[in-house]
Amino acid sequence: MAHPDPGFAGRAARLHELLAPSLADDWPNLPVVRGEGAYLVGLDGRRYLDFVSGMAACNLGHCHPRVVAAARQQLETLIHGPVGVALYDPILQLSDALAAVTPGGLDMFFWSNGGTEAVEGALKLARYVTRRPAIVAFIGGFHGRSLGAASVTTSSVKYRHHYEPLLPAVYHVPYPYCYRCPFRAAATGSCCDDPFHSLDRLFRHVVSPADVAAIIVEPILGEGGYVVPPPEFLPRLRDYCDRYDILLILDEIQTGFGRTGHMFAAETFGVRPDILVLSKSIASGFPLSAVAARRDLMSRWSAGAHGTTFGGNPVACAAAVATLQVLRDEGVLENVRARSAEAMDALARLQRTSPFIGDVRGRGLMIGVEFVDPERDGAPAGEVVRHILAEALRRGLLLYPAGYAGHVLRVIPPLIVTREELAAGLAILTEVVEGLPGQWRSGETTRRGG
Ligand code: PLP
Repeated sequence: MAHPDPGFAGRAARLHELLAPSLADDWPNLPVVRGEGAYLVGLDGRRYLDFVSGMAACNLGHCHPRVVAAARQQLETLIHGPVGVALYDPILQLSDALAAVTPGGLDMFFWSNGGTEAVEGALKLARYVTRRPAIVAFIGGFHGRSLGAASVTTSSVKYRHHYEPLLPAVYHVPYPYCYRCPFRAAATGSCCDDPFHSLDRLFRHVVSPADVAAIIVEPILGEGGYVVPPPEFLPRLRDYCDRYDILLILDEIQTGFGRTGHMFAAETFGVRPDILVLSKSIASGFPLSAVAARRDLMSRWSAGAHGTTFGGNPVACAAAVATLQVLRDEGVLENVRARSAEAMDALARLQRTSPFIGDVRGRGLMIGVEFVDPERDGAPAGEVVRHILAEALRRGLLLYPAGYAGHVLRVIPPLIVTREELAAGLAILTEVVEGLPGQWRSGETTRRGG
């Protein structure tokens, strides 16, 4: 392995001089020299098991050889078009390949660079084609940080503080967070009606459904705390949208590309979106995102109504084509399901012995462990999670929090994680949780989220 630039350590020590606090003060800014599958290799020479997967952007692990080969070949051929000026094959190949796997026959695409940008695009598309102004989103959802995307984001108030006024005509209703359900409906085991009662109330008193262009929702809350809705929630939401001719935008930026054990969580939950937003793992770490919609919708978004310079970059598209091929050819989804069962089992065992674990939930390899303070009536325990993150990292395991108080541990190993790698990561986590001291006070963790 090539020796890292000897200047790196000095520059890493000046991190807080060089990068904005919103980048520098995140967790843990581990200086790394390379990524290999499920591992990041640190500047300190250690191999860290990466159970953050590049914030769910590297589902195939770091530097999958087939993705690297496809990107390298494209890099030597054409780096930039842009689309609209030059038509290059990777963007067409990718559109064809993605149309074959999107749920509900979404077969036309607008290509952009990152998740936030795709959410912006989806909101604009919905307004444009419906000629309706309003958008409904769910409390706890995270959709990005631009002024439009932040308007539909409520996973934590920190994403909105000092940025008001945001977009007008955006309304929020509760997401079914069963573990902390204010109505304790979860105790009955039946789906909470509250989101639908809230929608009824909203449409009766605040905004006419005839003014609502779209409802945007994450199939599983990501940044908002890895909250899995009851199975009937999304199909009921689909029916609700149909009743009022409202478009359903599914934000699968985090859940997409195999994370939940199916190619998309839409399949996991049996729901058909009108518009799908995709990014993160779409190109195994290259910046790329998509707004996907049915042709009859997308074809009404006229020329000039939206656009991009870098979106659908040829290298990113080539990497995405290779990513889809690997997902199809290499038994990745089967691996997700097998590893998921092992992880859920191990974490459920840990929950039985630890008073600090309130809930273990997830689908596929998108698993959240919610930590609570047993001495404060199960209050969210961000401090406990912060301690676990630091102790796990010391032992060579990289993890990241979620939730408004940083009280949920994300367990998102790459989808190619082997049984042995998963077991090694979970053994570290178990050791740290079993060694937790008795007393804690809850608090916020500092982090950027995503
Ligand atoms: N939507 C969801 C569900 C996300 O998880 C994220 C990022 O974490 C975004 C949107 C925003 O994506 P980006 O950070 O690429 O702008």
